[in-house]
Amino acid sequence: MKKKKCRQKLITHEPPRITYFVGGNMAANTSKDVNTNIPDYEYTDVNTKLFHIGSFRSEWLKRLKPSSYSFQAEDEEAFEANFAKELGVDPEIMTKVKSVCSLESLRCHPEDQQPDPEVVPPDSTLKTLVQRKKRQDHRASLKISKNRHDLYADELDRMTVGRKAESVADMVPEGEVILTINVYYPAVFDKFNYIRPHVTLVMTGSHSLAELRDAICCVSDLQVCGEFSNTPDIAPDFISKDHFKSAFFYFEGVFYNDMRFPECQDISMTIIEWAKARNFPPYSQAKMEDTRFIDLKIKVGFPYLYCHQGDCEHLVIFTDIRLVHKNDCMDKKLYPLLIHKHRVTTQKCAVCHVYIGRWITKNDQFAPSNPCLFCDKCFRMLHYDAKGNKLGDFLAYPYVDRGAFN
Ligand SMILES: [Zn+2]
Ligand SMILES: [Zn+2]
Repeated sequence: MKKKKCRQKLITHEPPRITYFVGGNMAANTSKDVNTNIPDYEYTDVNTKLFHIGSFRSEWLKRLKPSSYSFQAEDEEAFEANFAKELGVDPEIMTKVKSVCSLESLRCHPEDQQPDPEVVPPDSTLKTLVQRKKRQDHRASLKISKNRHDLYADELDRMTVGRKAESVADMVPEGEVILTINVYYPAVFDKFNYIRPHVTLVMTGSHSLAELRDAICCVSDLQVCGEFSNTPDIAPDFISKDHFKSAFFYFEGVFYNDMRFPECQDISMTIIEWAKARNFPPYSQAKMEDTRFIDLKIKVGFPYLYCHQGDCEHLVIFTDIRLVHKNDCMDKKLYPLLIHKHRVTTQKCAVCHVYIGRWITKNDQFAPSNPCLFCDKCFRMLHYDAKGNKLGDFLAYPYVDRGAFN
């Protein structure tokens, strides 16, 4: 039954929408008595006011009956009886409502026909179908065929829905907080300002910020700096992520630095000192590995910052915070859950046009352009003899494609 999930879900996907559970408007406070643990809009449809995630969770647990957030399957008859009571109808009408609203009666094709889910009826009034038809027609006019990306668009989400853990110790506990977090591409290219989030992650309140950091994959972590035309085989050993481990999140005046490794530096210090010298409000620091979501004070829908590799800056937006539901993925080991990933077109090799580019060459006498992109195979075939000796003059830089994460 979906109904219950909707009630527990407090703030939905963007724009954040605050819904209140049946049985009492949680934010129905008078002006005298404002409960700051309950998120309220700061700007309607944009972001909420600041609230503490842990206290917000306690507020839910205080107000809900344990059976409302329990994982135990509710007896169907009891559920229906309660539902009828809430609707204020007698059992007979309830049975009727049930049959009218059943999935079997939801059809837009003749009863004796097998439905074809790919065919949208031409004059449907159902909004979702109207939108779907529009999209289908648009694709048909551009002659776009269904590609594998569309086919697997919901795959990430589908794989984990309702997944149970193998052992009790790996179960997400009842009453845990679930957060949905969007991470965006760094805004280095204008076109990235207009696209959907790069990744959408689902995490629990007991996860630390360091775990969020580890779940964010960015191409600049895999970049290899340097010119390797003389030693192409050792290039993969120089990944930026292994050399420059410092990073921070910035939420509400606090820089949360990654200090897990001895090489890590507090890269927020420069900003803090710069701000101090200019009479900005003071900023503070904390360690991301010591901070759990449940300890944070945030605004839902508000753009925050993740910075790594010195200046690779991503926006981070919390779009939803709610209690866990029994239909969620129950296996702790599968978290952070990646439920959406934006796919980008890959840059192909200039010679074979088949494989993804791995090398960029400059001042290259064998190349059709300057600079030029090669896959590993074509690069080696063109630039080295059978013994691996460099042929001719050129500069070679390893290239990591954004689409490598597809
Ligand atoms: Zn990045
Ligand atoms: Zn190639």
